[in-house]
Amino acid sequence: MKRIGLFGGTFNPIHFGHLRSAAEVRTRFMLDKVCFIPSALPPHKIPSGIADANDRLEMTQIAIKGYPEFFLSDVELNRQGPSYTIDTVKHFQSNQTEPVIFFLILGLDAFLEIDTWKSFKELFRVIPFIVMTRPGFKYGGIKDKFAVISDYLKTKISDGYIFSNEDSGYIHKIYQPVYILDVTPIDISSTNIRMLIEKKEPVSFLMPQEVELFIKNKGLYI
Ligand code: ATP
Repeated sequence: MKRIGLFGGTFNPIHFGHLRSAAEVRTRFMLDKVCFIPSALPPHKIPSGIADANDRLEMTQIAIKGYPEFFLSDVELNRQGPSYTIDTVKHFQSNQTEPVIFFLILGLDAFLEIDTWKSFKELFRVIPFIVMTRPGFKYGGIKDKFAVISDYLKTKISDGYIFSNEDSGYIHKIYQPVYILDVTPIDISSTNIRMLIEKKEPVSFLMPQEVELFIKNKGLYI
């Protein structure tokens, strides 16, 4: 069966933190492909300072060009209103001509906010998660990420989740597994890139050069 990772984000702009982490997830979980899905109006982010959806789509396209294991979806940009992951997952799961198993890829920072997402419990029923560690992200002062994730899952989702060493993640009788992957720590964020651009500081080597050029030519984030 085909294995596809769904990787959503604002990608405002896309950077090497996204790209390298997604590449490592792909290899480690033997995914055939990873789909990058730029979100329309991110429900959790303040809309100021967000580049136009088409620009974010184009930057993502430019960034993954030449890497056939990555592809792009504009499904969230073509939908009216804000992007809800549950709708996106259902879209993919119900539009396949061959059997595919989907995985939802996201960083630990995003994962620990999931209880604010629409129909979040349903998400745990319908799709397995791959949660990537993210440097610079503090878990409310607690050092051990497993303690934090375990507490989060048990209090917000279901206390039936148990850690499985073999699967390197949490498993449940009814809900889908939540896998945890330590990716190479790359401490880059879109916020930081936007701040550097605003301060007219160089942003080289934080993202593919073609993306940097696109931002420059379009005068984004200044
Ligand atoms: P911003 O700084 O604007 O919040 P961001 O850099 O977090 O943006 P997003 O587009 O919001 O980027 O991220 C999309 C997904 O990628 C999220 O699940 C996030 O956790 C993950 N992600 C972003 N940067 C990294 C990174 N450096 N390492 C691992 N995961 C990352």
